Amino acid sequence: MAKILRLILGDQLNSQHSWFQHPDPAITFCMMEVREEATYVTHHVQKILAFFSAMRAFREELVNRGHQVIYYPLDAAENLQDICQNIEHLIAAQQFERFEYMQPDEYRLDASLRALCQKLSVPAAMADTEHFLTPRLFVGNFFAGKKTYRMESLYREMRKKLGILMETDKNPLGGRWNFDMENRKKYDGKTPVPAAKTFDRDVSGLYQLLTSQTIPSIGTVDCEHFPWPATRGESLEMLEDFIVNGLPYFGTFQDAMDTRHPYLFHSRLSFALNTKMLSPLEVVNQSLAYWEHHPAAITLPQIEGFVRQIIGWREYMRGTYWAQMPAYKTLNYFGHDRPLPGFYWTGETRMACMRDAITNSLKNAYAHHIQRLMVTGGFALLAGVHPDAVDDWYLGIYIDAVEWVEITNTRGMSQFADGGIVGTKPYVGSANYINKMSNYCKNCDYAAKQKTGDRACPFNSLYWHFYEHHRDKLAPNPRIGMAYRLLDKMTKTEKNQILRQAEHYLTHLNDL
Ligand code: FAD
Ligand code: SF4
Repeated sequence: MAKILRLILGDQLNSQHSWFQHPDPAITFCMMEVREEATYVTHHVQKILAFFSAMRAFREELVNRGHQVIYYPLDAAENLQDICQNIEHLIAAQQFERFEYMQPDEYRLDASLRALCQKLSVPAAMADTEHFLTPRLFVGNFFAGKKTYRMESLYREMRKKLGILMETDKNPLGGRWNFDMENRKKYDGKTPVPAAKTFDRDVSGLYQLLTSQTIPSIGTVDCEHFPWPATRGESLEMLEDFIVNGLPYFGTFQDAMDTRHPYLFHSRLSFALNTKMLSPLEVVNQSLAYWEHHPAAITLPQIEGFVRQIIGWREYMRGTYWAQMPAYKTLNYFGHDRPLPGFYWTGETRMACMRDAITNSLKNAYAHHIQRLMVTGGFALLAGVHPDAVDDWYLGIYIDAVEWVEITNTRGMSQFADGGIVGTKPYVGSANYINKMSNYCKNCDYAAKQKTGDRACPFNSLYWHFYEHHRDKLAPNPRIGMAYRLLDKMTKTEKNQILRQAEHYLTHLNDL
């Protein structure tokens, strides 16, 4: 029997995977905490702690189930701090006769593991992660020949393919595919917001390890009350908690933002999903089962809104990534080149919306979708920040940030740096949008209604400046006609004042 070494990456903690069904004395799994992974971008401290905690818990589970596991903590003497070097060394030192790994989700790791396999002296093979609902290349093939990949088309295909929320093979339940228009309410301040499900783990020892190994990080952490799940059991608890308490209002308030409630009715399941402790299908199936048994508590628009995120957006982003990498990482449609303003790292800005979204991100390693898209992402786009700088920030700061889902959302959806592969038009908004969806503007030094003057909200003049500045690229887009009609209706004096105000803000970005 050949002696096999199998690699488990930090985001491959899928205990339901066929690899782990039966212990086999010929198979040894290896897992490693390496400096390379902890530092390829400056991560939020909670993100590193969450990944390492979950990896350690996974190792323990495998050992308890009878598997053989080699685990390198960050400070292990034999740890060469690089996944490929560790593998080469292990194979040689322990005479493994075969190497196997699961399909990595990141292009960077995929390329290095492929290169490693080319030079190993033993045969190697790659297995599926058994996690996603579609194969890597499905989305690329589905949209082959198309300039724009429309999520809605994929989503409908997925609904039909999986038979989810369907009346017949072809027709959606309730006669509509999408209830988005009903799902865009500002938080009413009355609907009770559920307490976030947290786990109160003590990660002080792990934190000390990061400090002693001088791993750079951003953000803060309460080490004695670490909130994120480390096991599949805890992830399932989180899922159940969300289904009962968050799902009934998920759709209604999914775009709302409120200073009192950083999570509102969002699931916070992205970390458990992206580490594969939960599978997308079980998240959807459990939600559907609860909805079927509690039709009075959960309406069709709520469940549809949630299902769309998982079987639609998540699969779409992953498939787009694999269809477009590695070129995607270099796209900069608008040629933006400003550095990220310093307040992204501190939250110290007079803009209440930015302060809230950034402060919460630094405190919780979390912001929900609309904060990421329309506040921090929208501002970076309006300010003309280089997409590389925007990507680095998003890839570092969020608990769920792994490149396959971070870059397509950031560079594509939020920065339109792909020129419209992911979105049909840039997601930018003035204060009008933020004021409509949040309570931010009430507590802001800036005035949401003003475009010019000392207290003018920066989002307003920057919004018009963005459209004027990129007229050649955006005016031909039929979906943007309205913005240009409004811009062209302005008097010359009004337009010039707004553009001057924007120029002033752009030269003093760090002072906003
Ligand atoms: P919920 O609002 O409860 O949604 C449920 C689940 O749906 C999420 O857990 C997630 O798995 C999935 N989902 C929802 N929207 C998306 C989407 N646009 N793309 C992919 N999956 C989606 N998500 C990440 O997982 N990692 C990232 O690094 C990441 N970076 C982002 C960067 C930007 C600029 C933007 C606009 C979005 C980003 N997203 C990312 C998508 C989304 O914001 C997060 O998935 C979501 O906020 C996670 O919180 P939640 O689990 O409470 O999500
Ligand atoms: Fe943000 Fe402008 Fe509203 Fe202030 S006024 S919270 S800067 S949108």
